[in-house]
Amino acid sequence: MAFNAHFKGYNTGNTFPLDQVVYRDSDGGLLEVEHDMVQLRTRSAKEWKTLFESRCGSHNWPYASGVWGKKEWVLPGIADEDIISLNEGWTNLFYAKRFGEHLGLDDLWVKLCGNSHTGSFKDLGMTVLVSQVNHMRRMGVPIKAVACASTGDTSAALAAYCAAAGIPSVVFLPGNKISVAQLIQPISNGSIVLSLDTDFDGCMKIVQEVTEDKGLYLANSMNSLRIEGQKTISVELCQQFGWEVPDVVIIPGGNLGNVSALGRGFDLMLELGLIDRKPRLVVAQAANANPLFRAYKTGYAQFAPMQAKKTEASAIQIGNPVSYDRAVRVLKKYSGMVYEVTEEQLANAAHLADRTGLYCDPHTGVAIGALLQMVEEKTVSRKDRIIVVSTAHGLKFSEFKTKYHKGELAGFAAKYANPISELPPSVDKVRAELEKRFKEIV
Ligand SMILES: *Cc1c(COP(=O)(O)O)cnc(C)c1O
Repeated sequence: MAFNAHFKGYNTGNTFPLDQVVYRDSDGGLLEVEHDMVQLRTRSAKEWKTLFESRCGSHNWPYASGVWGKKEWVLPGIADEDIISLNEGWTNLFYAKRFGEHLGLDDLWVKLCGNSHTGSFKDLGMTVLVSQVNHMRRMGVPIKAVACASTGDTSAALAAYCAAAGIPSVVFLPGNKISVAQLIQPISNGSIVLSLDTDFDGCMKIVQEVTEDKGLYLANSMNSLRIEGQKTISVELCQQFGWEVPDVVIIPGGNLGNVSALGRGFDLMLELGLIDRKPRLVVAQAANANPLFRAYKTGYAQFAPMQAKKTEASAIQIGNPVSYDRAVRVLKKYSGMVYEVTEEQLANAAHLADRTGLYCDPHTGVAIGALLQMVEEKTVSRKDRIIVVSTAHGLKFSEFKTKYHKGELAGFAAKYANPISELPPSVDKVRAELEKRFKEIV
């Protein structure tokens, strides 16, 4: 096949084949996957659109996957039989009509990336990384296992894709800082689960050292193969709107790989002429883990890693984001804005949205909390087409949602708590309670 790609160092221009076990450039910077643009330009924008549309919903495995339907833009060199796909992508673009009406917005949508095999967008990147590892192992590269540090969703995705491939996996988790659902996923999929008495940044440090042994392949998003899969979110969004570009895309950010990926998706569509304008990209951070927000306030002049404090949005409880430089490049190009959202704001925002039919995890709550601030400040207006990227399924965060409705989240009032009425089995008591509860509906 003519289409091809390789790793490239952003600062040095050094290149490495994708089949090499390498994560960082000689200057310590991260590597990007660079595609052969001359080859990609041999097809017109119209031809790409037609190709992508023809694969959507097809029975031609693995091309029905939202990621592999765009294989030439993602990992062009891999043979189909090496691909490990769990039919990721093509997630619901939820028209938040009632929630939009509540906020005075006519064109509000939520991209439900958590409606995926392991319940988060991490599947989009992991299918690419694990497929590449599978390919390398088949070529004889001595990779014994794949490892990652995780705030819960990366490890779930790694475990599932590795189990599907028959490749051993090792996950490093911060002790007691992830949800029960997230913890049980890699256990069930047969990963070696290591719970460390530290936070995510501490796990990240350890896994980077341990994976210096090249037999253990590193699956964190500093490995840009994952970014290649995640960038299909932007392409899929535009495709779902008939190749119209939204005005604003809001995404929760922790390690900042996903916002970097969104930018790369839009970059490629712009370069190949599938779209002709840029959306504004907005990153929402938890106020308790806000190093990007702090840097943004200085015009990105100063960046200081911090000790992240506890947040219900545990997947973004990260103080030293690996993809900071990548993210800043993207934000500068896409009229970027950064918001911080308190625990009170994220919890109330998630559950306000739930009242209109969504079922939000706390990270989506962070993104919606930023949207509420933008509405308040009038940074967005009624006619804007706004996309909130929902990064995980609410069902993975039952503890958060249960605590909210019981009023057990510390330090603030749960404005949208919906307590259970516990009653004796008496018709009169039931009638009286219903009368009372109906009156409370406004
Ligand atoms: C990983 C994750 C994020 C953060 O993505 P980054 O690429 O680390 O910025 C947000 N939400 C959820 C649910 C995640 O699992």
